[in-house]
Amino acid sequence: AKQDGRNTYHYYDESLDKVSDDKFKLLQLLRPAIKEKQFKLYYQPMVSLNTGEITIIEALLRWPQPNGNMIGPDLFIPLAESSGLINDLGKWVLQQACIYCAEQRRSGTSNLRIAVNLSVIQFKDGNLYNTVEAALHTAGLPPAALELELTESFLMDEREQIQKQLKALSELGITIAIDDFGTGYSNLGYLRNFNATTLKIDRSFITSLCSDEHDEQLVKAIINMAASLGLKTVAEGIEDEATLNKLIALGCDIGQGYYWSKPIPGDGLSELLRMHQPQ
Ligand code: C2E
Ligand code: CA
Ligand code: CA
Ligand code: CA
Repeated sequence: AKQDGRNTYHYYDESLDKVSDDKFKLLQLLRPAIKEKQFKLYYQPMVSLNTGEITIIEALLRWPQPNGNMIGPDLFIPLAESSGLINDLGKWVLQQACIYCAEQRRSGTSNLRIAVNLSVIQFKDGNLYNTVEAALHTAGLPPAALELELTESFLMDEREQIQKQLKALSELGITIAIDDFGTGYSNLGYLRNFNATTLKIDRSFITSLCSDEHDEQLVKAIINMAASLGLKTVAEGIEDEATLNKLIALGCDIGQGYYWSKPIPGDGLSELLRMHQPQ
């Protein structure tokens, strides 16, 4: 088994270890896995730094193996992207995530929202708008309950085509978050062209917030500029109280990280949501 820092679910079994260098063979496993829907969504809460409430949860994809191990998305998403399989997989993620969120809203957390990661490839098949609309409709979830997370690198690619689709989606009521913010080259003003409402500050800046003065100044600048543009800020990768307190002092809106919870299966998160529910 291989450990990837603290993300200890990055285990492979031996058979997969042997083929992990061989993308063709891994692809041969991925294709039927998608067809047979062998994937599982985990969910991680995001917490309002003002109220302490869980306002939104992020859906994160996992690939369970027959031996009980889990393969993390960093390993198979790039392969799903390069093979085009990401369109089917991404569609399934959207559907499952919307259904889960709608269920949670019906069982009491009535304002809960859900964030879904998108790959840039999903904007290229021309059907994303319909896919999103169908997922919402099937689940009975209002568009305002859905946030789509896009990475910054995205915004460099096929700009006009992507902007057009994002505009249509935000007119439907969906919100757009820019993921891993700070790692790319886009400036904040530029993000307005993509109808972004939320910035997720990359974990690499949050991890070193309390030890690196330069990172603290950077995070402070991002939060202040975002606020002046009317954008909400999410800090990802909060693991301890000192980091949390610093982010509260800097005026960050929302936090996500192991401090509250790792990504966990839906039934576990349901319990967490029930516990957090206002009485
Ligand atoms: P991401 O969207 O930036 O997701 C955040 C990653 O940080 C997740 O890794 C999460 O488990 C991890 N994380 C959260 N809090 C903490 C913390 O406090 N400390 C540490 N060390 N890590 C934390 P994960 O689940 O392995 O996902 C990796 C990436 O895979 C995601 O990065 C996202 O880019 C991609 N991904 C996951 N699910 C999907 C999906 O359904 N579709 C697409 N296109 N990409 C996905
Ligand atoms: Ca994300
Ligand atoms: Ca991120
Ligand atoms: Ca990331």
